[in-house]
Amino acid sequence: MVATRLRPWPRPRAHGLQYLAITDHSKRLALAHGLDADGPSRQIDRIDEINAGLRDFVLLKGVEVGILEDGTLDLPDALLRRLDLVVGAVHSGFNLTQDKQTDRLLRAMDSPCFSILAHPTGRLINERQPCDFDLSRIIRKARERGCFLELNAHPARLDLCDVACQMAKSEGVLVSINSDAHSRLQFDNLRFGVSQARRGWLQAGNVLNTRTLNQLRPLLAATMARGVGQ
Ligand SMILES: [Zn+2]
Repeated sequence: MVATRLRPWPRPRAHGLQYLAITDHSKRLALAHGLDADGPSRQIDRIDEINAGLRDFVLLKGVEVGILEDGTLDLPDALLRRLDLVVGAVHSGFNLTQDKQTDRLLRAMDSPCFSILAHPTGRLINERQPCDFDLSRIIRKARERGCFLELNAHPARLDLCDVACQMAKSEGVLVSINSDAHSRLQFDNLRFGVSQARRGWLQAGNVLNTRTLNQLRPLLAATMARGVGQ
């Protein structure tokens, strides 16, 4: 999603940002820099420490969890509840039938903690075709669930596409434009995402992360099942 490492320290203010979500990949994902089993807990504590020393800027605690083929998330709810947001994404099983892929995403979005569906179609431009699922049902589900869809601003993804952005807008589902930065150099990706959003006729009010932190927090908290089972 937005950023994946605490060091080297990014300079988000230079990019006009007032907050930044740290959303490392969960360990199950066999990608570089995935968090180990204790990683999320340690990172939560570390972000709290850093926030205590920051003025006029806040790091949000998040994670990018994998959505397994049966629609479950690859980290336990008890851990996810400690975060400000949970980003869910498909990183394998891209070739399921439309019915199975749709059911998988719908089930994931029913998880107690689920904030944003990341790079929803999984496409990589000129490299991987988008997954086959019923986008209308996913967008309607996001509206019912009160969760959000990512517009991943990485130039190889630009996922959602413009037409999907327009569909989300017409259903009243907010889109989150995320840099997918894996280093501070990649914060500039955001401008590609903004251009893509404009192609889909999105305006600032249709975009989740144009909101101030005070406006954003309750929207995220509503996706996180705070208090459930505690
Ligand atoms: Zn991902």
